[in-house]
Amino acid sequence: MMRDEVAVVGAGTAGLLAAKRLAELGIETQVYDQKERPGIPVRASGILSISGLETLGIDYRKVVTNTLCGAKLHMGSEVLNVRAPRPIAKVLDRFELNELCYADAQKLGARMITKSKVDGKLLESLNADKFIVGADGAVSVVARHFGFPEIPRHVLTYRAEYDYRLVESDMVELFFDNKMIPGFFGWISPNSKDVAEIGIGIDSASGNSRAAFERFKKVSEIAQIVAGGKIIGEGASIIPIGIRKHFVDDKRGVLLVGDAAGQVKPTTGGGIIFGGNGARYAAQAISACISKGASLEYYERSWRKEFQKEMVLHSFFYNMYASMNSGQLAWMAKVLKFMGFEKFLAQYGDMDRPSLMIKRFLLRGLAK
Ligand SMILES: Cc1cc2nc3c(=O)[nH]c(=O)nc-3n(C[C@H](O)[C@H](O)[C@H](O)COP(=O)(O)OP(=O)(O)OC[C@H]3O[C@@H](n4cnc5c(N)ncnc54)[C@H](O)[C@@H]3O)c2cc1C
Repeated sequence: MMRDEVAVVGAGTAGLLAAKRLAELGIETQVYDQKERPGIPVRASGILSISGLETLGIDYRKVVTNTLCGAKLHMGSEVLNVRAPRPIAKVLDRFELNELCYADAQKLGARMITKSKVDGKLLESLNADKFIVGADGAVSVVARHFGFPEIPRHVLTYRAEYDYRLVESDMVELFFDNKMIPGFFGWISPNSKDVAEIGIGIDSASGNSRAAFERFKKVSEIAQIVAGGKIIGEGASIIPIGIRKHFVDDKRGVLLVGDAAGQVKPTTGGGIIFGGNGARYAAQAISACISKGASLEYYERSWRKEFQKEMVLHSFFYNMYASMNSGQLAWMAKVLKFMGFEKFLAQYGDMDRPSLMIKRFLLRGLAK
């Protein structure tokens, strides 16, 4: 079967970045999405490392709403304060980000087919003569239809934005408490100088994210925002935790990217950098398959070579905090503080690539 065109299913960030990369390589590409515009409604935050952003190949500066220098980690009764000596992350407007990727992909010739919900029947007819890139998110129809292995776990989220000016508008705050927020954490994110986002995620086996959100609103720092600000928007969503055992079907010409593949770091649920890089490798693999008959497995091999060890480390840290009670979390925070880890993390922490920090620790210890 000779295929030379691609149908991308899903116009989220990963699908649009895949379409852009494919169109750049001169490959005929159609993008299908059930929505009218990409990324509506946006029910996710947009905190991305500056180093990771540079790998996405987009002019992200146009859609930055804030710059962050660190994080405050509330662990039981203790707080770890990790403030880096330089900006480490940007907050992006997720709607504007998708609009930007959409415009880029269209400019390069990708064709957008909106208001089109893809089902098994359409997938079969598209797959007759096209590669399929499944970028249809955490609950992927493409993955189910083509029989890919399951994603091991999911986190259910609920978040709301308030017009509220935080005092420290360059720090994100994370709240770990497995009784109130089982299996993940709560957060306050300064989305801009005047907008604060509060949110929670819980393990999908632990009930209702809205109910957990209501519990979280009683925490004093959160209650202050709820009482002092006007709500701008709110909504629930889902985060995949764990990569699929494989995400390429070379025989049928099907590749999963982004949340559909589980390309998300389990510690925080951040997926744009990992899915965006997945989109790049997937486009390269399709191009090599069309021009040289190369195997699509190149995509999965390259992605895993770059990110697998980081994902293993993120999973290790996720399993650790998700299994500790408040007392154990506070004890761990105390030990880390005593050992000087706040300074070490501030100086050498990397929110995407924990291996760099661990390597540094193993080679030089906590010394500067
Ligand atoms: C609360 C929350 C906070 C987050 N915070 C961050 C963060 O700070 N930083 C970060 O990097 N990541 C964050 N993430 C993760 C990030 O949002 C995802 O990794 C990213 O959106 C994945 O992009 P995607 O394109 O793979 O999937 P999606 O964004 O889910 O896009 C999938 C697209 O497919 C379409 N679709 C689905 N099914 C079909 C169908 N059958 N037919 C047609 N179209 C279909 C949908 O309409 C959608 O447009 C967060 C997620 C959540 C839920």
